[in-house]
Amino acid sequence: MLLDSKKFQQLAVGQEMDPAYTVFGKNPVQGQRAEMAFLSGSRFSQTFLDCANDLIQSIDRAGKFLYVNRAWRETLGYDDAEIAVLSIFDILDPDCRENCVVLFRDIAAGKIAHTYEVVFVAKSGRRIPVEGKISTDFKDGELVATRGIFRDISQRKEAEELLRDQKLLTEKLIRYSAVPIFVLDPQHRVTYWNKACELLTGISAKQMEGTANHWQAFYLEKRPCLADLVIDSVDRRNLSVLYTTTKNSELLEEGIHAEEWLDAVGGVCRYLACDAVPIYNRSKELVAVIETLQDLTERKKMEEALTRLATIDTLTGIYNRGKIEESLRQEMARAVRYGSPLTIILFDLDYFKKINDSLGHSIGDQVLKEVSVAVGRQIRETDVLGRWGGEEFMVLCPGTVADDAVTIAEKLRQQVENLPRGVTISCGLTGCRPGESMDALINRADKALYAAKHAGRNLVRMAA
Ligand code: GH3
Ligand code: MG
Ligand code: MG
Repeated sequence: MLLDSKKFQQLAVGQEMDPAYTVFGKNPVQGQRAEMAFLSGSRFSQTFLDCANDLIQSIDRAGKFLYVNRAWRETLGYDDAEIAVLSIFDILDPDCRENCVVLFRDIAAGKIAHTYEVVFVAKSGRRIPVEGKISTDFKDGELVATRGIFRDISQRKEAEELLRDQKLLTEKLIRYSAVPIFVLDPQHRVTYWNKACELLTGISAKQMEGTANHWQAFYLEKRPCLADLVIDSVDRRNLSVLYTTTKNSELLEEGIHAEEWLDAVGGVCRYLACDAVPIYNRSKELVAVIETLQDLTERKKMEEALTRLATIDTLTGIYNRGKIEESLRQEMARAVRYGSPLTIILFDLDYFKKINDSLGHSIGDQVLKEVSVAVGRQIRETDVLGRWGGEEFMVLCPGTVADDAVTIAEKLRQQVENLPRGVTISCGLTGCRPGESMDALINRADKALYAAKHAGRNLVRMAA
């Protein structure tokens, strides 16, 4: 037996209750009566419910409102007369109505309610997402009423939506940036591997994201990338072992900038500039490291070509006059600073004019190359070979006294003599004296060379 709807309406609009309904459980058969009695039992409970900021409602099994509190009215904006004829389904957003039918059925079947999220529609038409709990009142095995207490979560939903939008924007910014970018989490796992990174490395985000295999995109053997070193707070002074250039990143002070040739970027060796910057949350905990890459291969190759052009003799591939002079200046300064010996060997091809004249200039060139290679093979790693000019060459022998350099020069002479061309060289050598000028040193070597020529060529002479 159901209570008549007028009584519901009375209750819903907050009118005075019939005293018959105010004693809980007096008429146990009439469950609704008990519910109404419960709700209107005292002015205290009404006042109390009206103080709540949450939306509180009680509805009968048909979905009609038995009670709503002040916050409910204020939020949804329906007046008393409207509430009296409303059903719960009238204020549910159509999108969640179907779910709610199932929910009500579950509740009626005695299933325990958890937290629900539904969307109410205010009188103004505004959709109000709410989250709440529903409790049930059964009398004699029959559902009498459901009581709901809901919180308006519009603000939270808006914030969540905003956050989702921002996250999406951030993701797209990274994903579609023209700059190759990848992001690691503090466990060294790849969280982003953007399109430009895919293009640079030839490895897809699908293959990379979620793994810690990012090194494979750059190196042939396992080693940390710059972002890994930032995660592990590696001492910057130790980075020079791994990179040719390192400095603080211009993007962020805590970040690192490093440059080097990497073995295998998309299958080829490339010169990359990497910037790895740490991202901390508000509790100052590391949440991610972003590494951006710049492919500077072409620029670096150009720079290296320019350097080569400025320092290397184009015919022979050994140092040119400018570079050998610079090296000599450095070695002389070092010898003075450390008090270490330094000897220079000046050598010149014998009767080279004849070779040119008889075999042609290009064969002459070929001979110059062959002599350079033969001599280059013979000297030590620390020695420096350069073309002094024409068919004249210089070898710097740091840490070597002139007497020992005679042996070296003799070996060079023999090496050239043994070439199938049948060319020979004459060598003049001399040790650097403390405080003397470069000109003085070279003059003495030149004189020794002249002495060798004068004594018959294919000889080694040391300056007195
Ligand atoms: P000496 O034994 O006295 O040194 O006799 P030489 O013929 O080698 O001496 P000279 O200085 O008369 O001749 C050097 C020659 O080297 C003249 C020049 O044409 C040649 N020469 C200089 N530079 C080059 C070069 O780059 N290529 C070729 N093919 N010849 C060169
Ligand atoms: Mg000569
Ligand atoms: Mg000469």
